[in-house]
Amino acid sequence: MHRRLIAPGAFVASLLLAVPASAASWSPGAPGIGDPYYPAYGNGGYDVSHYDLRLTYQPRTDRLEGTATLLARTTQDLSRFDLDFLLDVSEVRVNGAKASFTASGEHELEITPKNPLPAGTAVTVVVRYSGVPSTKSAYGFTSWHRTPDGGVGANEPEAAWWWFPSNDHPLDKATYDVSVAVPDGSQAISNGTLQSTTSRAGWTRYSWRSDKPQATYLATLAVGKFDVTTGTSESGIPIVNAYSKDLGGNYGAARASIERTGEVADWLAEYFGPYPFNALGGYVPNTNTGYALETQTRPFYSPRQFASGTNVSVVVHELAHQWYGDSVSVDGWKDIWINEGFARYAQWLWSEHEGEGTAQEIADYVYASRPAEDPFWTVRPGDPGPENQFHIAVYDRGALALQALRNEVGDEVFFAVLKGWPKRYAYGNATVGDFVRYAESVSGQPLTALFDTWLYQPSKPGAPAARAASIAPEAQGGSGSAPVRPKSWKKIAATNSVHKH
Ligand SMILES: [Zn+2]
Repeated sequence: MHRRLIAPGAFVASLLLAVPASAASWSPGAPGIGDPYYPAYGNGGYDVSHYDLRLTYQPRTDRLEGTATLLARTTQDLSRFDLDFLLDVSEVRVNGAKASFTASGEHELEITPKNPLPAGTAVTVVVRYSGVPSTKSAYGFTSWHRTPDGGVGANEPEAAWWWFPSNDHPLDKATYDVSVAVPDGSQAISNGTLQSTTSRAGWTRYSWRSDKPQATYLATLAVGKFDVTTGTSESGIPIVNAYSKDLGGNYGAARASIERTGEVADWLAEYFGPYPFNALGGYVPNTNTGYALETQTRPFYSPRQFASGTNVSVVVHELAHQWYGDSVSVDGWKDIWINEGFARYAQWLWSEHEGEGTAQEIADYVYASRPAEDPFWTVRPGDPGPENQFHIAVYDRGALALQALRNEVGDEVFFAVLKGWPKRYAYGNATVGDFVRYAESVSGQPLTALFDTWLYQPSKPGAPAARAASIAPEAQGGSGSAPVRPKSWKKIAATNSVHKH
């Protein structure tokens, strides 16, 4: 569901099914959607609007099998097109007819339909598949985490390849129905609302629905033995949380943190506007991973996030992404700052709310505690490069840029920007440049120079720039005063264990 490709003419073109084949110039869809950070991610030539995944998973063997039905629309005359996928495919049908297919590259599934597909037409693709996700890797890694009681698919920027065929890039968002049968006694957790559970012959089928556009990396599946809790936020959003029964000493702290999901979402709505989805929650499988991920409506948390006790700050971070990252998604992966800079800044606001240090104090601390020669300052949060996509600078320097903006335009305008942006680009995609222009339009001030200083220069903004941004004024006179570490710092930093590949 790449909103920029929805042209008024597309529907009209779909009615012209009688175009003679000889009149069209059939060509293969590109094996990548055109993201310079990840040239092979996503695909060209079509746009998916809905994924229907009907699966069966056996936790004992990690075997996943089932059928994916994709509803798509072509964006060019297609002789062939790719999906991104790693499991073993037994049959592909396109518009009802068997198609030929072959695996290529690191994660491509090339599909050649029996009849070529004219641009602007509706296409239904059915893929039957099976496999053991934990045995599959691409580029030397796997995003499928085997647990003692099952498995989990959650990673960024890639997680889908291990459990469903897709156009794997945030530019192509879609709605989802995810229905997974697991042995009685296990649960299947996914995004959105639980539509039904049905049991038959020792198997229970969990059917989940996401009815708002969702990026592929934000789709998640976890199978295991969970304690499930339910509730409703003050604002009326239903909550489903799931905790592996196997979390040991981390169980209490995980639950004491994530059970505050409704409270945190309501608090964030005061800053970001109404919560954009119809479901809330979080889940903690028994993985040995260290990170958390903003999987849509239901973030993934690693047990390790709670090893030192409760951490509501990480819940704030992942829920902030529901507005900044999930509803409004990156246009390309270079735009990661519009996710991480804001989710980190939400943690600073939470610290302020909790009386554990204001955003200004945290900004001053970050600025003062990183000397000019720290490589931290060579990372450009506005376009960090794929190798630094999840570098700590994207988070901390990224949030520093927002504090600089806040001081430049004042609280009233700053918070109007924070609240207006998720509405302006709801359920779509946007670039860092779009944010700069949006902030300029709301404030009526030129801001290019400010963002260039804080997001794009490969060096520490000097004292004049920091003074202009009201950051760490007392630490700039060469007096050598040691920065004061805000009380919230340890918990904010505990969310830093991010991606490893
Ligand atoms: Zn994040």
